[in-house]
Amino acid sequence: MENTSAPTHCPYCALQCGMTLTPLPQGGVEVTERPDFPVNRGALCGKGRTAAQVLSPAVRLTAPLVREGGRLVEADWPQALDRIAERLGAARERYGADALGVFGGGGLTNEKAYALGKFARVVLGTSQIDYNGRFCMSSAAAAGTKAFGLDRGLPFPLEDIPRTGCVILVGSNLAETMPPSLRFFTELRENGGTLIVVDPRRTKTAEQADLHLAPRPGTDLALALGLLHLVVAEGRTDEAYIRERTTGWAEARAAAMAHWPEYVERITGVPVPQLREAVRMFCAPEAAMVLTARGPEQQSKGTDTVGAWINLCLATGRAGRPLSGYGCLTGQGNGQGGREHGQKADQLPGYRKLDDPAARRHVAGVWGVDPDALPGPGRSAYELLDALGTDVRTLLLMGSNPVVSAPRAAHVEQRLRSLDFLAVADVVLSETAELADVVLPVAQWAEETGTTTSLEGRVLLRRRAVAPPPGVRTDLYVLHELAARLGVEKGFPTDPEEVFEELRRASAGGPADYSGITYRRLAEENGVFWPCPAEPPTTRTGGADAGAAPGSDGLAVARADGTRAAPGGVPGPGPDPVPGTEAHPGSPRLFLERFATADGRARFVPVVHRATAEEPDDEYPLVLTTGRVVSQYQSGAQTRRVAELNAAAPGPFVELHPRLAARLGAADGDPVAVVSRRGRAVAPARVTAAIRPDTVFMPFHWPGEGRANTLTNPALDPTSGMPEFKSCAVRVEALGPR
Ligand code: SF4
Repeated sequence: MENTSAPTHCPYCALQCGMTLTPLPQGGVEVTERPDFPVNRGALCGKGRTAAQVLSPAVRLTAPLVREGGRLVEADWPQALDRIAERLGAARERYGADALGVFGGGGLTNEKAYALGKFARVVLGTSQIDYNGRFCMSSAAAAGTKAFGLDRGLPFPLEDIPRTGCVILVGSNLAETMPPSLRFFTELRENGGTLIVVDPRRTKTAEQADLHLAPRPGTDLALALGLLHLVVAEGRTDEAYIRERTTGWAEARAAAMAHWPEYVERITGVPVPQLREAVRMFCAPEAAMVLTARGPEQQSKGTDTVGAWINLCLATGRAGRPLSGYGCLTGQGNGQGGREHGQKADQLPGYRKLDDPAARRHVAGVWGVDPDALPGPGRSAYELLDALGTDVRTLLLMGSNPVVSAPRAAHVEQRLRSLDFLAVADVVLSETAELADVVLPVAQWAEETGTTTSLEGRVLLRRRAVAPPPGVRTDLYVLHELAARLGVEKGFPTDPEEVFEELRRASAGGPADYSGITYRRLAEENGVFWPCPAEPPTTRTGGADAGAAPGSDGLAVARADGTRAAPGGVPGPGPDPVPGTEAHPGSPRLFLERFATADGRARFVPVVHRATAEEPDDEYPLVLTTGRVVSQYQSGAQTRRVAELNAAAPGPFVELHPRLAARLGAADGDPVAVVSRRGRAVAPARVTAAIRPDTVFMPFHWPGEGRANTLTNPALDPTSGMPEFKSCAVRVEALGPR
């Protein structure tokens, strides 16, 4: 198995680029292109090309560590696992199950996310589980569910982008975050389509646009409402579509009409002629899309903001039609699958709701437990981190580094330090792992098989290419061993395919139905789009793309038992998948005939502009917004260990407009301090006209004095629990020349 090339996928972002791994005779693995995968067609960014370097024992953990006398020292696996089980068991005995916290990650495979959620609820009995994906796309997920009855990041494949007429890309710098995806937008423009980019900064992505709108951070909601106002005022609504396929238009229309263009210009800073031009470009072609990313989503009003952009799509008849629609560009590698299988505070596998009695019965049946014994919904990610050391006394953390990536990070770090016990399973000694009482070294993407679900909703198979170093175990092994030590001998297999088979049964009949997907299919078909329910072979009509034909809703699907799955919602236990039920082609395109609501219609949600949680004032007169650079990924725990990436992006910086820099007396490269109500970060100034004069920008990949998340505001969106990463009030102080 491990001396031949393995087609697989990148460990980093949600594009999940295809790549080939070839073990080298002298050790290590070579990453090469894989042109057969349609998303990246062989292209890889620098992170993907160098991903194998993190497999080196020189940069990673290769033995468990336990804290002795204040220091982390090497231990063997039984010692480390015994200590975790003993401390979790003792805390549960003393404080109750909800004193045990579990924190997962959007980079975990579907199998791990599933097993971690089951472990928390069945073995620990705790409701206190959430994951870092809450910080990624939760506002878009909440808005999509409200409007369409179902959240799948993109309800159409990326391949549709070049064939639409216009794309409004809101708050995404994909030229840096997922560079191979830029070609879809280049092809769009080559085909005569237009690209509108909404971003406070003139990013590399914005440079490609036909029109760049640069609103003040945190005002995207007003911008979308202003565009909708103009759509109505200029008679560009699609009344037949609104009548036949939506509900709630009157209220949403009234809300938008209160946002006249001049008012929106005052809020956003975007001139009225640009608003009019955007409406003209968006409404002219027959098909158009709106795609959002973290910009509009990471706000304390993120759900309403995304809702406003969805309203724009619905009013113009752009959702659930060929080559049209709203989509979210999910960020983390398994950000989509990670939110579907039960590591989210309020969800069970199959994207079922934890407080739905039918969902509880179905999943409890698969797990062989009493549904009444399953805990209810827990706290959202930041609320969970904020409760550490008080209500929550111990934490088991997998695949996340909140010391760098959480908002108000110094406070989160202090909360982590105040725990009675912290156990971290990770590949490297991250800044969070450094605080742990026990650190478990776990296997990586190239060393274990598993599935992920890309931002398109395409379920993919990552294949094992090499064995992990001696001393390293898999996350599934960790959960199996801890479950056994805590008295649950069965139900936590270490074989990923066995876990996936159970996940199929648990997801059957749910919104994210994987029951018709098998490892064999994934290997043969280059991925399968969910929902993909188990079906008898006779109903199969084509290959994996057969559901793509315009007119197929791809969602309300015939079941093996002759019933039809209710689109969206939870119809109760579905048929268990059995061999020979892999006939459903998968669902690349959703909503073409009906939305996943009870009546099949999309819902307008009336929303109005409101201010950010922290507006600038005399003491903190500027707005800080945060983001990424091309050569680092998330908290940088892996990419900061790759020499080539580190050389390209060695540390944080603060983007300042030349006028602001002159006023402060800061030259390019001079150290500046950025100060918010939560703390202070120091980094060199980068003076650029690409940013608004009232805004400063910092990338968030680094710990230490340049940690951007020291500054960010944990004000939460009331619906999604998303913190307001994208906007907080700061002042900047020049610290003199270098
Ligand atoms: Fe990996 Fe994303 Fe880069 Fe593709 S774009 S190579 S998935 S990090």
